[in-house]
Amino acid sequence: MKAKMAAWVSGIAAATVAAFIVAEPVSAQEAAKSNELVIYSARNEHLVKPLFDLYTEKTGTKIRYITDKAGPLLARLETEGRNTPADLLITVDAGNLWQASKQGVLQPIKSETLEKNIPENLRDEKGDWFGLSVRARTLVYASNRIKADDLKGYEDLADPRWKGRLCLRTSKKVYNQSLVATMVERLGKDKTTQVLDGWVSNLAAPVFSNDTRAMEAVAAGICDVTVVNTYYFGRLQKKNPDNGLKIFWANQGDSGVHVNISGAGVTRYAKNKDAAVDFLEWMSTEEAQHIIADSNMEYPANASVKPSEQVASWGEFEADDLNVAIAGEKQIQAIQLMDKARYN
Ligand code: FE
Repeated sequence: MKAKMAAWVSGIAAATVAAFIVAEPVSAQEAAKSNELVIYSARNEHLVKPLFDLYTEKTGTKIRYITDKAGPLLARLETEGRNTPADLLITVDAGNLWQASKQGVLQPIKSETLEKNIPENLRDEKGDWFGLSVRARTLVYASNRIKADDLKGYEDLADPRWKGRLCLRTSKKVYNQSLVATMVERLGKDKTTQVLDGWVSNLAAPVFSNDTRAMEAVAAGICDVTVVNTYYFGRLQKKNPDNGLKIFWANQGDSGVHVNISGAGVTRYAKNKDAAVDFLEWMSTEEAQHIIADSNMEYPANASVKPSEQVASWGEFEADDLNVAIAGEKQIQAIQLMDKARYN
């Protein structure tokens, strides 16, 4: 099963965002009184601020925001409960959005605009959250040493012919947990365990702390292939276009490329729900989609919007059409299996 995502699929690297607190404290009462939107964002300020500014310019609605990692923002929403000033939560990874929904800090939104603009597999079925950009996680290989014909996809990297030739990022990163969660869904536990065992025995080096280091190891000849989010490939490509690395679209013809999202949901106790929905709808339109996707070399979630020129140059691919909520639903099982396989 796969969806033709015409490579227009995309996401954000907000992983290490320092807490940025708005200048003035925002109280719930204060926010409710004014035509003001309060946003908690796990996406980096430099990625969201241009959007907020443009929206304010167009509508007059002021936006106050806090940026932090997803975990602390979720904890904060839970602690604040009905007193939260937040109207909207923006975060990366479907697993985080799924968790927010499970914790009950979001509310279902019914919107024809969002249902039209955001594909069904990139949003919560109840309307608690909506994908806004898509990030693709696929293979990157050393084109000077191996051919694209040698590659197939994620599961094939467990084959003994890749012994000593594979580099992987740590399993502690949610990106890999999400990828393995989709395998658990599709292949079941036993087959997934076999794949993980194969990966671990094929490793050329201890796991890497991030996607960029894993690709640098491929470029340096330590290994031939790795698995990364394509925006990291894009960053390396900008720095050094002649590093010999190329993208390979995994599992074409079967499950498709693993995709994840950055996205947003209206908070359960939003004081300005109408404004939050209006902002979310605007985020799904072409104007905002270009900004959201292009700022981090991701793919627009809205399939009618094209990615940037650089991103488009990587070619089109078939994306996995499983609902991205699987990343949350199967995350614990994925972690358990990775532990069992000693994938660090
Ligand atoms: Fe990232």
